Amino acid sequence: MSASPFDDFIRDDAEVVELLGREWARQTSTLQLIASENFASPAVMAATGSILTNKYAEGYPGRRYYGGNQVVDEIEDLARRRLTALFGADHANVQPHSGANANVAVYQALLNPGDTVLAMRLDQGGHLTHGSPASITSKFWNFVSYGVTPRNDDPASPGEHIDFENVRALALEHRPTLIVAGATAYSRFIDPAAFREIADEVGALLMFDSAHVAGLIAGGSHPNPVPYADVVTFTTHKTLRGPRGGAILCREEHAKKVDSAVFPGQQGGPLEHVVAAKAVAFKEAAQPAFARYTAQIVANARAFATALANEGFRPVSGGTDNHMVIADLRDFDAELTGKVAQEVLDRAGITTNRNQIPDDPRSPFITSGLRVGTAAETTAGMGEGEFAQIAALMARVLRHRDDENVIEDVRAQVATLCAGFNPYARFTS
Ligand SMILES: *Cc1c(COP(=O)(O)O)cnc(C)c1O
Repeated sequence: MSASPFDDFIRDDAEVVELLGREWARQTSTLQLIASENFASPAVMAATGSILTNKYAEGYPGRRYYGGNQVVDEIEDLARRRLTALFGADHANVQPHSGANANVAVYQALLNPGDTVLAMRLDQGGHLTHGSPASITSKFWNFVSYGVTPRNDDPASPGEHIDFENVRALALEHRPTLIVAGATAYSRFIDPAAFREIADEVGALLMFDSAHVAGLIAGGSHPNPVPYADVVTFTTHKTLRGPRGGAILCREEHAKKVDSAVFPGQQGGPLEHVVAAKAVAFKEAAQPAFARYTAQIVANARAFATALANEGFRPVSGGTDNHMVIADLRDFDAELTGKVAQEVLDRAGITTNRNQIPDDPRSPFITSGLRVGTAAETTAGMGEGEFAQIAALMARVLRHRDDENVIEDVRAQVATLCAGFNPYARFTS
């Protein structure tokens, strides 16, 4: 069992060390293709594991409810300054513990209970916090959902793109207080200007949930919604490659309400160790190397989509503009569900998640699709050639999913591939 380079301080706890060692081995010897995951830098992890974990800091810099926050104030200010500079925003709140918290805080800041919100349908790419019946959001606010255009395999006018006519018609009909742009399973550019135009037409506020694409925006590989949206929320751990957490950017006019909604509205004391790690990640994301990284993420996703299509999987919407591909499995094998595909791939060392495709006839637990992303393995150094190879391995193991020998063989090939692309290799030798 290879020890992780980061568990020096917990040698006395054999049980946790053993588990961390196993997870270290899993992350570095199998393929991480979950679109919402990445490999954070050792600097980000060091800040997350720092002494700031000890500090209570309810409130905001200069207005804390506890003493001893001189250094913490500077850290949070640094994170906020770096973040507003990175995206060109008026105001930043770096305290949300997660993307879900950030979204609910924005709803609390901008809406009254019962107000109408127009957001993307969950089975077409929206997030749970965009009004799922299971989410608290649907209990406080009235969600109406837009979708994507019907499937159309003509490359000249590909379907399964956001249906802006539908967005506009629903906005005119329901007069929402807030329109939410952004998705969790959608592989195309999301045009913030088109959403702004509709929001202005009906007098709605616009929130852009850029949880998945925040890193691509920072690196210049996806349009920046900040000039168009009243509020932009995101997670810091997906393509942005920081610590697990959330953040909010907003126009100055919403700053006070947003800050009050995060604390004391939603949360207690902020996680200042995570805020420090966010500051580290925001600096990393401002470097030219990060822009090259995000361009490579997209190039890899496009190569992956093409290779998967050549193997018979149908990329939803015909391809990708970002870091993910949603593969429709029915074209590859009508019998193969997302659930079975995910399980077989897991056994072969290929980590993915099942996902509904637009108008999926199967339930969210079974699904007809698979979502894969390139952000993590691009951090590890993989390029277009490796992603073409991965598509071939996926096709082989799914075609022979009842053959233990094939599963074992693919698992061995995956381990060999991963051995050449250990994201932390240069920190372990
Ligand atoms: C991931 C995601 C979230 C939630 O982030 P968590 O940190 O998991 O709470 C919110 N919105 C979208 C679009 C997401 O993809």
